[in-house]
Amino acid sequence: MQKIPMPNPIAELDGDEMTRVLWRMIKDTLLLPFVDLNTEYYDLSLPNRDETRDQVTRDAAEAIRRLHVGVKCATITPNAKRMEEYHLHEMWKSPNGTIRAALDGTVFRAPILTNRIRPRIEGWTKPITIARHAYGDIYRASEYRVPGPGKATLTFEGADGTRWSETVFDFKGPGVLQGLHNRDDSIRSFARACFAFALDRKQDLWFSAKDTIAKQYDGAFRDIFEDVYQSEYKAAFDAAGLAYFYTLIDDAVARVMRSEGGFVWALKNYDGDVMSDMVSAAFGSLAMMTSVLVSPDGNYEYEAAHGTITRHYYRWKAGETTSSNPVATIFAWSGALRKRGELDGNEALSAFAGLLETAVLDTIDSGVMTGDLAALCGASGVDTQAFLDAVYARLLT
Ligand code: NAP
Ligand code: MG
Repeated sequence: MQKIPMPNPIAELDGDEMTRVLWRMIKDTLLLPFVDLNTEYYDLSLPNRDETRDQVTRDAAEAIRRLHVGVKCATITPNAKRMEEYHLHEMWKSPNGTIRAALDGTVFRAPILTNRIRPRIEGWTKPITIARHAYGDIYRASEYRVPGPGKATLTFEGADGTRWSETVFDFKGPGVLQGLHNRDDSIRSFARACFAFALDRKQDLWFSAKDTIAKQYDGAFRDIFEDVYQSEYKAAFDAAGLAYFYTLIDDAVARVMRSEGGFVWALKNYDGDVMSDMVSAAFGSLAMMTSVLVSPDGNYEYEAAHGTITRHYYRWKAGETTSSNPVATIFAWSGALRKRGELDGNEALSAFAGLLETAVLDTIDSGVMTGDLAALCGASGVDTQAFLDAVYARLLT
């Protein structure tokens, strides 16, 4: 069989535990037989991150920026327990956080829909993609537990000598206090990433916040989105027949519930945190959710939304076969290969990505699926390799 040529590489970021095992299986079963796979390989497994003092993560981020496309396996974010388990020199930061900061990117999460697994909201026949602003607000807040009576003020001291101060509250007794911030440049990057992504997917873009209450704060988000839209994207949206609109978050929630899906929903940091879990749960399973990091200057990193599936890994290490779901990781690969194909005008590669995704969905619709999905539709599940073999067989036909 003639393999599909791939003249330009993508950045390949390997990871940890069960997903590292799946990574190998997917490459061997579904990619290497069909594609002359061309990657720059970065081993982001925790032992190698520790060994390189996390330089490998910074190098991988640089590679995504240079090659414009990356695919990433799930990785362990170290905590105290992992420090002991892996005898780490340091509690290295989350690789996703490092890469997101290096690329100034926004994460878009979208469910993978199949005919067999019905969303819990019956009307949702098309995927809803959540775009979460990943900077600031309560995630970078100053907080204080007010012990007793006293006056809280909010003060700004400008570098040019401007001074602004306002009383937040005159406490008569104990309470709580919090100071939030965000930056225009971060909001603007987020807006650009959202418009660019919606255009790329040919979907409408919704943005919601609470500007009736937070008139300055959420009002700034609304205004920056509107400014970016009018000055940079409106013409392209009009030409593609797409819509952008801003609406109050309460109204958005009601409309989302009544919608059939098929749009990108941009949300502030906290709203996105909450709504992405709601949407993924309603669509069925975290193992059927893809995630792509998009930078405003057009770099893409594809991954699965789930973690390293630690519990399965320990069973696998003990010699058991597991029924871990490889679908989101396969779609991370197909997303990256399709994007490489698009950027290079390599139609055979983009077409292969589509065939691979169709083969996966058809396999599930034919009743062959891993245990997590089987449990959702009352079928019986197969192990991971058997599922991959069934997809491979479909790719041959
Ligand atoms: P997880 O790896 O997503 O797994 C949680 C549970 O969800 C699993 O035990 C499994 O349930 C089920 N599950 C998730 N993905 C599945 C799949 N593909 N197939 C079948 N079942 C699946 O989350 P976690 O246990 O909280 O985190 C494990 C490690 O992953 C942590 O070290 C964390 O730092 C890391 N993590 C990495 C990323 C990333 O790199 N993007 C994201 C999140 C977490 P059952 O055991 O009941 O079958
Ligand atoms: Mg969350």
